[in-house]
Amino acid sequence: MTERVVIIGSGPAGWSAAIYASRASLEPLVFEGAITEDNRLKGTLPLGQLSLTTEVENYAGFPSGHLTEYLKSALPEHLVPYRGKNAPHGVTGPELMELMRQQAKNFGTRIVTDDVVSVDLSKRPFTIKTLEGQTVEAHTIIVATGARANYLGLPSEDAFKNRGVSACAVCDGALPRFRNKPLVVVGGGDSAMEEASYLTKFASVVHLVHRRGEFRASKIMAQRALENPKINVQWYSAVDEVLGTDDGGVTGVRLKNLQSNATETIEAAGMFCAIGHSPNTDFLKGQVQTDDKGYIVWTQSFRTNTSVEGVYAAGDVADSNYRQAITSAGTGCMAALDAERWLVTQGIH
Ligand code: NAP
Repeated sequence: MTERVVIIGSGPAGWSAAIYASRASLEPLVFEGAITEDNRLKGTLPLGQLSLTTEVENYAGFPSGHLTEYLKSALPEHLVPYRGKNAPHGVTGPELMELMRQQAKNFGTRIVTDDVVSVDLSKRPFTIKTLEGQTVEAHTIIVATGARANYLGLPSEDAFKNRGVSACAVCDGALPRFRNKPLVVVGGGDSAMEEASYLTKFASVVHLVHRRGEFRASKIMAQRALENPKINVQWYSAVDEVLGTDDGGVTGVRLKNLQSNATETIEAAGMFCAIGHSPNTDFLKGQVQTDDKGYIVWTQSFRTNTSVEGVYAAGDVADSNYRQAITSAGTGCMAALDAERWLVTQGIH
């Protein structure tokens, strides 16, 4: 059997595409990603980047309020772990993603918890291969694989991943190894401001290391970080080595001043990278046109078409500009409608 719509990815774009495609009776098949250590380290587990965040305040339809009863009525109990005594007022990223997944499931979306490792887009129907060895044929594919956090690329950083090096303060910040210890955050954008501010809950001090003399972050978030007495900004600086021991993990970083080239060692129990993202397009192996940063190119304005007829892209994998949950969801909807309309032109129902 050839699938009519295969959706690869399980963030807001993937689930929104699935909701629209399943309501159009296309019975979409979603590859939501595999639960592997490799994906955990890369930040590419199922449910995408929103599953790595805390409260989501800017997704329309979820004002801060008494969401607990609603969430408990909409989701199985084990999927609402945050709804205890100290429940957040708004919806959290993981909850929002579970709600979207559930909504897609309710309309008949089929979900496979596996990674797509390769596709053949050279002939139709397209062929899709997964990590566990499954092969699926599809008339249309919606790529909604999102983006993942970047790292500095130092061998010493790699060596201490999971032992003090992280790209997700929300996921890892509360670990005992970071409590009441100095920590380092690298970056000068909104993510770095957010991570640094968040980590001050646990750290004794947060060294915010930025390569220039001004932040790229929005004024309000930069201001918040600058006014936080537990954040110490290291301007014009770069981490050129992560220091640590085999047993204990990260113990510090070597900082290089980019103006004077002087180096200094600072003590730190962890280093959090917040230096932007890269799109998850490896499995496409160059078969779809991408831009110079690797993001999939939409080949028609206000359409989710890619350079391959029948292949659509939605969400952060094709958008280095807006990168919001709500814009991803919007383009997910567009991709499902684009796929549905194309299938009609091909006489496939
Ligand atoms: P970003 O805006 O691209 O910022 C990346 C930062 O990392 C920049 O300051 C950049 O330095 C630095 N950087 C990049 N490569 C580096 C390297 N190899 N070594 C050292 N530093 C490096 O990324 P982002 O902060 O993840 O934000 C992405 C988007 O998400 C933005 O549109 C942002 O507004 C949004 N966002 C919003 C919120 C919020 O509103 N709550 C939170 C997080 C993110 P330079 O400045 O020198 O280029």
